Amino acid sequence: MKPIRCLGLVVMAAACTPSVNTTTTTAPATLSTARMATDIQAVSSDAFLGRGPATKGEELATAYIRDQLKAAGLQPGGPNGSWFQDVPLLQSNIVGTPTLFFTVNGNKVALTQGEQIAVRSSMQNVDHVDIQNAPVVFLGYGVKAPERNWDDFKGENLRGKVGLVLINDPDFEAGQGDFGGKAMTYYGRWTYKYEEAARQGLAAMLVVHETVPASYGWATVKNSNTNTMFDIVRQNPAEVHPPIEGWIQHDDAVTLLKAAGQDYDALKKLAQTREFKPVTLAGATFSANYQIEQATIRSKNVLGRLPGTTHPNETILYGAHWDHLGVGAPDARGDSIYNGAVDNGTGIAAVLELARMFAAGPRPQRSMVFAFWTAEEKGLMGSEYYAANPVYPLETTVAGFNIDALSVSGRAHDAVVVGSGQSDLEDRLKTVLAANNRVITPDASPEAGYFFRSDHFPMAKRGVPMLYMDSGIDLLNGGKAGGEAADAAYRRDAYHQPADEYDAAKWDLSGMAEDVNVLHTLGLQLANSRDWPNYRTTSEFRPTRDKTASSRK
Ligand SMILES: [Zn+2]
Repeated sequence: MKPIRCLGLVVMAAACTPSVNTTTTTAPATLSTARMATDIQAVSSDAFLGRGPATKGEELATAYIRDQLKAAGLQPGGPNGSWFQDVPLLQSNIVGTPTLFFTVNGNKVALTQGEQIAVRSSMQNVDHVDIQNAPVVFLGYGVKAPERNWDDFKGENLRGKVGLVLINDPDFEAGQGDFGGKAMTYYGRWTYKYEEAARQGLAAMLVVHETVPASYGWATVKNSNTNTMFDIVRQNPAEVHPPIEGWIQHDDAVTLLKAAGQDYDALKKLAQTREFKPVTLAGATFSANYQIEQATIRSKNVLGRLPGTTHPNETILYGAHWDHLGVGAPDARGDSIYNGAVDNGTGIAAVLELARMFAAGPRPQRSMVFAFWTAEEKGLMGSEYYAANPVYPLETTVAGFNIDALSVSGRAHDAVVVGSGQSDLEDRLKTVLAANNRVITPDASPEAGYFFRSDHFPMAKRGVPMLYMDSGIDLLNGGKAGGEAADAAYRRDAYHQPADEYDAAKWDLSGMAEDVNVLHTLGLQLANSRDWPNYRTTSEFRPTRDKTASSRK
């Protein structure tokens, strides 16, 4: 599905604010706010057609980025001396209306796509899906977390069966426990539950939808999953996707369980304990039948690199997605170009400016890679492709920084860490911010799992320490109230709409400039050190990183 990404905490100034000189004491190379403004204006102009992957807008955007990298003196960072990494994408649709139903004790319960159930088109590279009367098993939260001594599957053979699981993680409702309390660990995210379903050999995994633990309503589930689906082209898609990935409405799950002699609330309580075991629903089966229509489209990531002087095989990664929504339904003004100026023109401009700053300064000891990802808006596809097919080894990627939608409302007293508490990169950020009289504001909604919804995540999942820093909300001019109001106005009036356009009169890029300087300082410190940042011992990504510890010296 397509959750709210580019959540941004992005703010727009209510009034024109004069630009402020924002050079920091720790950044040796000079940032140019004017250059960043030029970049944003260029990539978000109507000529770029909203930067849709595999469109004319892609050609223009990727050429613009390449030309800027070249002019700044970078080397091509893609495979085989290219500026580009080809990203083949599988595009998949369910043809017509899918047939979906439960039977309970011989009674058929039909399920309407989009109403009671939402099933994603198959990512298994097949032309049809046909499951007849598969047994249904309630699997609690569907979590297998050895480092937390938690296993909802208990070794049961689930091959070919249909799993029902709860959303979020086992201690969400209690608010404290082994999964960070209210904060969502990756075990709470639906993408994890489907990946685990593939590992367990399930024929289908159906997430029981509940708005509060999901952090969005059924409309989001429906609108993001019953249309065209995308995935990167994979050698063996069945390793990560079960045949059916879907959601079922809470009330329909309650009814099904009741008909099978089970009580939803009682099972949920049990699922919040280590003792939980899979519960097969007596007399219940699930069937599904539909055709799939698919195609492969080709897009690309853009990569620039500065080789390190003494440790070129060790990489610091900066990344931002270049794509946006392209041309779509017109708004009330009749505008159909989704310009994506904030989302993610600001990120493109920031990473380009970081590339220029590093290229202009003394060459660092470790290599710097500047990545511009495709198809973030289709589900983090470009970054996932890079992480699955890394151009530079992930085990010796020291750290990475994701930039998605920075502030255009001027300077802030703070910076936001999305997914706070994950890695010690935050401690480094705190020090750099403090030198500039700024502080960290922790993720305001850790229960929503935003850390799992942006382009750093495919690398994070594979153990690379990644920081997702966002612009602050406590504005020098307007305070927290002003920052929050501007954020709300952006979400209401511009986010993922044709109105996300460059506005020279209203925008103030001085806060974005400070953020870029902070990220430059962080990367520069790491690039000239022998440090290896890591996830905290409480992070679900620490064990993955530690597995490759011997390749880092
Ligand atoms: Zn974005």
